[in-house]
Amino acid sequence: MKFNRIVIKVGSALISPDNNGCSGKYIKAIAHFITQCRKANIEVILVSSGSVAAGRHLIKHGSPTLSIPAKQAMASVGQMQMMANWQQFFDVPCSQLLITHGDLKDRERYTNIKNTLSTLLANNIIPIVNENDTVATEELKVGDNDNLAALVALLSEADSLFILSDINGVYNKNPKTHDDAVMINEIAEITNDVYAMAGATNNPIATGGMKTKIQAAEKAVESGIETYILNGTNSQVFEKILAGENPGTRFLANKNINNAKKHWIKYTLKSHGKIMLDSGAVNVVKFKGASLLPSGIVDITGEFLAGDAIELIDSTTKNVIAKGICQYSHRDLARIKGKNTEDIERILGFYPSTEVVHRDDMVML
Ligand code: ADP
Repeated sequence: MKFNRIVIKVGSALISPDNNGCSGKYIKAIAHFITQCRKANIEVILVSSGSVAAGRHLIKHGSPTLSIPAKQAMASVGQMQMMANWQQFFDVPCSQLLITHGDLKDRERYTNIKNTLSTLLANNIIPIVNENDTVATEELKVGDNDNLAALVALLSEADSLFILSDINGVYNKNPKTHDDAVMINEIAEITNDVYAMAGATNNPIATGGMKTKIQAAEKAVESGIETYILNGTNSQVFEKILAGENPGTRFLANKNINNAKKHWIKYTLKSHGKIMLDSGAVNVVKFKGASLLPSGIVDITGEFLAGDAIELIDSTTKNVIAKGICQYSHRDLARIKGKNTEDIERILGFYPSTEVVHRDDMVML
């Protein structure tokens, strides 16, 4: 495998091995690996966790369960510490990108991030991305940096995603709790069986465990991005990667790449509601590649605005058949559901679009 542009995600266990403040213990070897990649003309975008752990000892807190303001204050002060910790190991500048799910789901902000990243790379700067934990509320969060790294890999059109953790790769069960766990070197397809192997983490400062890493791999490989889960505590792993070997778990990239917009709809956008379709609409949307028109809608649930993502549901089987961007708000849709297209303007007083969900804005599930 020849790498051109890679995204490297570094887990909190590597930033803060003692759960309290930043450490260079593992970061030094990772930074050295990044420098070697750059010398080999491989562009690197770093996604770094650990701001809360890095700032934990600087904010007074009583209980082990942290309040949201305490956590966000730790993230705020810890982000500086974490960036300074990285910067000391590079002789080129690092830059900081703090993003939330809200930034990724907005097409214009998404494009801004994409352009900023390529400008930084073109100027030999190392971009370091993290979720903006200081402002993000739960509903605005990607939630974990594994999935964030996959979204960054998609957006930056990277060819590979390296998820560095404190474990050699994916095992058939959690190796921290099962002595007989066996590591899997290569995963060609991410099935339910693969998800069933993934357990939680027993690290109190980590969020994801193996499940979010597999979700991230699934997002990436579907867009043709090869994904590795690697042990970032072992510097030999980096030598092996540079020598073209696979020292961890490799997820093979899918050759049938989905187009980027559909991928964004499927994975980046959160669904705000459901539209129930009659059998005629299910048939044309599912099998004939048609857009959804108001006449095929029997019911609507949820509250959404024009431009939000929604799910299309078969009202008979209740199965989700597709996800797409709706051209109408739930309020307007309630007034035109079941009606013919030519009645839209008379009922609403305006006529934004013939289609409720255009085919180009829809991904089948
Ligand atoms: P990070 O902070 O690096 O993102 P996490 O602690 O969230 O890492 O996730 C890694 C942990 O996931 C491992 O240390 C291990 O305890 C746990 N884990 C659960 N199931 C598995 C599995 N099947 N294979 C490997 N690790 C697993």
